[in-house]
Amino acid sequence: MRAVRLTQVGKPLENADVPVPETGPTEVLIRVAAAGICHSDAHYRAGISEIDRLPLTLGHEVAGRVEEVGSDVTHLSVGDRVCVHYLVHCESCEFCVRGLEQFCRTGQMIGKHRDGGYAEFIKVPGANAFPLPDEIPFEAGAIMMCSSATALHALNKARFKAGESIAIFGFGGLGFSALQLARAFDCEDVYVVEINPAKLASAVGMGAIAIDARSADPVEQIKEATAGTGVDVALELIGSAKTMRQAVLCLAALGRAALVGLTAESMSIFPYTELINKEAGIIGVSDHLATELPTLIELACNRKLRFPPETLRVVDLDAAQINGALDALQDSIDHVRTVIVPSSDK
Ligand SMILES: [Zn+2]
Ligand SMILES: [Zn+2]
Repeated sequence: MRAVRLTQVGKPLENADVPVPETGPTEVLIRVAAAGICHSDAHYRAGISEIDRLPLTLGHEVAGRVEEVGSDVTHLSVGDRVCVHYLVHCESCEFCVRGLEQFCRTGQMIGKHRDGGYAEFIKVPGANAFPLPDEIPFEAGAIMMCSSATALHALNKARFKAGESIAIFGFGGLGFSALQLARAFDCEDVYVVEINPAKLASAVGMGAIAIDARSADPVEQIKEATAGTGVDVALELIGSAKTMRQAVLCLAALGRAALVGLTAESMSIFPYTELINKEAGIIGVSDHLATELPTLIELACNRKLRFPPETLRVVDLDAAQINGALDALQDSIDHVRTVIVPSSDK
């Protein structure tokens, strides 16, 4: 089968011809219909996030049709449409038994620790394949499994509930989903903090209040817009100490700041005035959980989570096209997502 693989860190991905994976009794073979190209894939290629085995087929945002079903897999049949939960976990360690598979002792990420979806076929444990309703296009089913799932996990970790206000720092792929999900949960006002005018305009078009961080301090702007109160929840999706601190400072009493963006910088906090007095909380967010995916799939099914055609770009399963998309991702965080749709005529 055709696959596009990372063979050397720091070098472009390459076209490869590899055997179709052989599946065991607990696994399924999926014919890939769509695979999202993610910012993390650019990091793997560049060596910013470490890869421990090469060559490797990248791709952790995958949807397709079941081609083969292992004898122990009972919830799927050949031909079923599915999307893939990218975290392969043991289901028996002290974390997995509590439904916290992101901390699994032997957890592996598809497309990082094992071959991913930049290929015609992928094998995954049956437990990682979730039925994808006909209403959800494969392209949406693929990209939902990363940025939307993480956005939902962030809202859950922040204990976000109906009637609460929220500030979203950064309107890339995560922010695009977080805004839709917050609205699906009947939020009060949503503030989107950005420096990019086009992204601010698109956030406003989706019902948010724009906070242009270039014009004035976003914390002051949010305080002013909330009559000095602040917001109940702030999501930091950029990965900078500056915006993380702003996310904490714009909180109301009992507010929660969920930090999702990655940075190696440190952040200063004055505990007395900024946390203790307000009983505010700062929460780290990592990945997402299998138990959260049915909610996500249902919201997409009801069109509360959407990826309109103008937010999707399609490329073929071809190294040159995929490398081009990864180059573009390195330069900007965009909510226009590129999805690989393998052509069937080769
Ligand atoms: Zn991703
Ligand atoms: Zn485990």
